[in-house]
Amino acid sequence: MTITYELGNSLYVNITNRCSNACAFCLRSKHDNVNGEDDLWLEREPTIDEIKADFEKRNLGKYDAVVFCGFGEPTERFDDMIKIAKWLKENHDVQIRVNTNGQANLINGRDVTPELRGAIDIVSISLNAPTAEAYQKICHSRYGEGAFAALQEFAKKAKPYVKDVVFSVVDKTMPDSDIELCRQIAESVGVTFRVREYIE
Ligand code: SF4
Repeated sequence: MTITYELGNSLYVNITNRCSNACAFCLRSKHDNVNGEDDLWLEREPTIDEIKADFEKRNLGKYDAVVFCGFGEPTERFDDMIKIAKWLKENHDVQIRVNTNGQANLINGRDVTPELRGAIDIVSISLNAPTAEAYQKICHSRYGEGAFAALQEFAKKAKPYVKDVVFSVVDKTMPDSDIELCRQIAESVGVTFRVREYIE
């Protein structure tokens, strides 16, 4: 079972395969890994102790960041993610990012953003589309078209509690005109905008 895996200069953490979306471009639909090596399908979700033990096998000093990502939406295990992130912060000088679909408040049924404080440094939210209708067509959220407004609200609420909130889109998955509209949405929400490279 792969719990942590390396990608670039970061160490990624794979804590769940659950997700409130079923994106058309999701790597899970075509691959069992993202780095050519580690099978990210979990036969079961690792416990907090198993995740900590996996980190202890790593030299965290050599990574630029620890990233909650993997094959699934980390905020499906929001409480566990925060516990692990706080434990990491207590024991290591490491930057922590979560790559998320921004639906944490819907998934958890409450505003979880204050709980990010002191645990998560960067929240990177996949925007994926410039309108609610287009988002739902691509991402198939179990919350329907409301997910698009909810992820923007989540981003706004998260800002006071973390160093940076990012909206990201993947290039080659939408026309340049839509990327520009996404950039404008990021500006209106007041968050950083990033175009990520498409991974074949
Ligand atoms: S939000 Fe991420 S993990 Fe979930 S289906 Fe989309 S790409 Fe896959």
